[in-house]
Amino acid sequence: MTPLDFAARQRHSGNMEQKILVLDEGTTSTRAMLFAADGTMLGSAQQELTQHYPAPGRVEHDAREIWHRTLAGAREMVEKAGGAEHIAAIGITNQRETVVAWDKSTGEPLANALVWQDRRTADFCTDLRAAGHEAEVQRRTGLLLDPYFSGTKMRWLVENEPAVAAAAKAGTLALGTIESWLVFKLTGGAFISDASNASRTLLLPLDGAGFDPALCDLFGVPHGALAEVTDNIGELGMTLPELFGAPIPITGLAGDQQSATIGQGCLSPGETKATYGTGAFILANNGQDIPVSANRLLGTVLYQFDGQRTYALEGSVFVAGSLVQWLRDKLGLLGTASETETLARSIPDSGGVVIIPALSGLGAPHWQPEARGVIAGLSFSTGRAQIARAALEAMAHQTDDLARAFAADGAVWTSLKIDGGMSANDWMAQDIANILDLPVERPVFVETTALGAAMLAGVGAGLYSSLKEASAAMRGGLDRFAPDMSPEERSSRSARWQKALLAA
Ligand code: ADP
Repeated sequence: MTPLDFAARQRHSGNMEQKILVLDEGTTSTRAMLFAADGTMLGSAQQELTQHYPAPGRVEHDAREIWHRTLAGAREMVEKAGGAEHIAAIGITNQRETVVAWDKSTGEPLANALVWQDRRTADFCTDLRAAGHEAEVQRRTGLLLDPYFSGTKMRWLVENEPAVAAAAKAGTLALGTIESWLVFKLTGGAFISDASNASRTLLLPLDGAGFDPALCDLFGVPHGALAEVTDNIGELGMTLPELFGAPIPITGLAGDQQSATIGQGCLSPGETKATYGTGAFILANNGQDIPVSANRLLGTVLYQFDGQRTYALEGSVFVAGSLVQWLRDKLGLLGTASETETLARSIPDSGGVVIIPALSGLGAPHWQPEARGVIAGLSFSTGRAQIARAALEAMAHQTDDLARAFAADGAVWTSLKIDGGMSANDWMAQDIANILDLPVERPVFVETTALGAAMLAGVGAGLYSSLKEASAAMRGGLDRFAPDMSPEERSSRSARWQKALLAA
């Protein structure tokens, strides 16, 4: 698309209602959502994605399925909007780190996509760490040597999938993250990756414009198979006319956690959001300074606009809502996840019970993959209410451990913006405010990931001149939780938590 085409398309849409179509590509489902320019959600269509588990520790998706389900959902929303001419722009937000290998000449996937949760490259990461590469990799990319990130997955595909190796040899191989795959399909061949997604590959230096040949050599990834790294906002592509009846510009792209950070309006340095879903992801806006962590937090690109990057410091907790699921499904202690709130409120305290939710190791800031869960402080007066309350209390303590790590890295929180399915629990939200001794805010409209993509696309389409303007126009009301706990109670809770942590 030339700038001229883009301008003509914008003029064409100028008289129309300015709706934004968001494609929210999750791990377990793909959703298409229609937004009005004021941030109101007008409709959504959701389809589940098939999870493939070919062996323990391996998780795959079918990239064709992702594309077909995305297209079906997008068409439903285009129809709801009254046609493509009623849609000003498309924004895409996606599960990060997942890798697709496809052939640029046919547009067809060459193997199943390797999902972010896939651990098959753990040994390669261990070898690289043993060879002393981690400090340099962290300094350049902000990331640690872990199979979570895309780079080692790309190498695995080239080394183990003959069709991928053959395409690499023929010069037709494309290796990309989910937004890259979908932009390629939607536009009929644009091969780009936005800076937020690219910064999760281990192949993008935080201060470099594009994928780095030396990093590609270290990780064994053919540089020629990688996309051009672009802004998160702007004239990023135009959909093929035949897909939706008329072309629609793609003007916003971002990885899901970055998108949620933007959707929460964390647009100034220090502003921090925490998403409590299966796990918990905390990102703090770091402004234009490249984040440097001495506490094993990650440095990542929040977004890039006009070639200028805004960065974030990130900490991930592996177990959040999944602890509640475990109490419900494996122990049978709960009927529903929300019952934890009623149970927690039914007693004055946890009776000394502490749960360390290290069921799959401990993530940031501890990074102890071998750690295991602990339930401490049991007595004959312990019942399911005490266990449920301790499970919720663990969320505040895990967050507090991260608050200390962020502060030690120079990112002192002054408030916390929360979202995610688990944040619906008012008791937990209040407890987080109490333990952090900070105000906690939760948007009434909880779909912050999709809203962030709508904001990026809105700015990219010229509906708003900046993310701050988009935020003022599109974000709605907030529920607020003010700290209300005595310093004595806070410190005795924290002391008990730290003691139990030693047993994990
Ligand atoms: P994800 O996006 O990771 O799939 P969600 O954001 O949908 O997760 O959050 C779902 C998780 O939150 C589940 O693990 C569930 O156990 C937990 N959860 C949902 N509602 C509540 C609640 N009211 N109280 C406690 N936990 C909850």
